[in-house]
Amino acid sequence: MSKYGKLVLVPTPIGNLGDITFRAVSVLKNADIILAEDTRVSSRLMQHLEIEKKLWAHHKFNEHKTVGSLVSKIQEGNTIALISDAGTPGISDPGFLLVRACVENGVDVECLPGPTALIPALAVSGLPTDKFVFEGFLPQKKGRQKRLTQLAGEERTIVFYESPFRLVKALTQFAEFLGSERQCCVCRELSKMFEEVKRGTVAELLQYYAEHPPKGEIVIVVAGAGGETESDD
Ligand code: SAM
Repeated sequence: MSKYGKLVLVPTPIGNLGDITFRAVSVLKNADIILAEDTRVSSRLMQHLEIEKKLWAHHKFNEHKTVGSLVSKIQEGNTIALISDAGTPGISDPGFLLVRACVENGVDVECLPGPTALIPALAVSGLPTDKFVFEGFLPQKKGRQKRLTQLAGEERTIVFYESPFRLVKALTQFAEFLGSERQCCVCRELSKMFEEVKRGTVAELLQYYAEHPPKGEIVIVVAGAGGETESDD
């Protein structure tokens, strides 16, 4: 155990296991404690990396209760690594509560650069990347239409996470609230064998996915209002 502990957020692959970084492996090997969102999911990654360590469960159902004791563990000198099922912890995944508690208690926090779904989706979309907003998951029911109404005038490129079961509903609502002629990009199964990137207007993608019900994990990138293009101005 080192004298000063810290919290390290460790991004893990969103599909392709080759996307784990050398630093991520090294941090996981050297951590005193590894917190995982779902220990069964992460134990497969640990096996692949040949890391034999007990994983502690840290998920949305227990994080409120455990943050205090985890901060104490770090203050005692432990280095804690936090991983989620995929991608960067804290990005539409548990992490924020623990990071905030560490910050409030003057405990060091690091986040390794690494896999996340939103950045490759934005970069491959062909839509302006210089200014964007990340909306994560829209509310499933209550508040969904209000959020879309608020986004109607958003001029920056908008990135959403969405379940395959709600993709057609989301595109239908984008047509209604944002406009059917907006440029859009649906990224499915990024970094996996059946990766698919479809670009077009909201209306075109709605028609395609209504006829081809999607499977897998999805990021939707939508052009901002006004259809500005990236410029050097
Ligand atoms: N922490 C993750 C990150 O950094 O991107 C996000 C976790 S969130 C619970 C899971 C959502 O991320 C999925 O529903 C999907 O919207 C998106 N996602 C994760 N992996 C993906 C992939 N390989 N391709 C496309 N979208 C993905």
